[in-house]
Amino acid sequence: MAKFRAGSAGFAHQDTRRAGTAGKDRAAHEPMALAAARLREAHLRVTAQRMAVLTAIEELSGHPDVEAVRVRAQEVTGGLSLQAAYNVLRVLTEVGLVRCTQIAGHPARYETEQNDNHHHFVCRFCGDIIDVDCVIGKAPCLRADLPEAYHVDEAAVTFWGACPRCTPAGVPAEHH
Ligand SMILES: [Zn+2]
Ligand SMILES: [Zn+2]
Repeated sequence: MAKFRAGSAGFAHQDTRRAGTAGKDRAAHEPMALAAARLREAHLRVTAQRMAVLTAIEELSGHPDVEAVRVRAQEVTGGLSLQAAYNVLRVLTEVGLVRCTQIAGHPARYETEQNDNHHHFVCRFCGDIIDVDCVIGKAPCLRADLPEAYHVDEAAVTFWGACPRCTPAGVPAEHH
């Protein structure tokens, strides 16, 4: 059975930002420095927008969409257009700092790349998305029944169902 990791519930990151307002300025500064270091490691030019977007994704729990990332990043950079946010997300995804997940019926979701090939569970009722560990841990984790000439490099698995909030204790969720 799939094991769930902390995701949308927001307890994935235990940090000072949730510990009240004390030391807030410091806590707000450090993630940006960290983001700058990660950009340099990925051989990307360090820009305020890239730092802000990377930090926003790390700070937002769960799997934010581009608009959520844009709004959060804007708190640091000032005006950030949707197009600019998309451009930054594309670059960060290309170099492997950010993972983009496409789920039918949902806008693309973003998260920090963990290189663990994890999958996602999506609640049909509230749209909540949480991580599901991959039993193999690297792509592709499913065998595809394809002729040898086809090269598979990824198997994207999405589990659909009802989350605990949308499932009355022990009872399969009915229509809302
Ligand atoms: Zn739900
Ligand atoms: Zn995920």
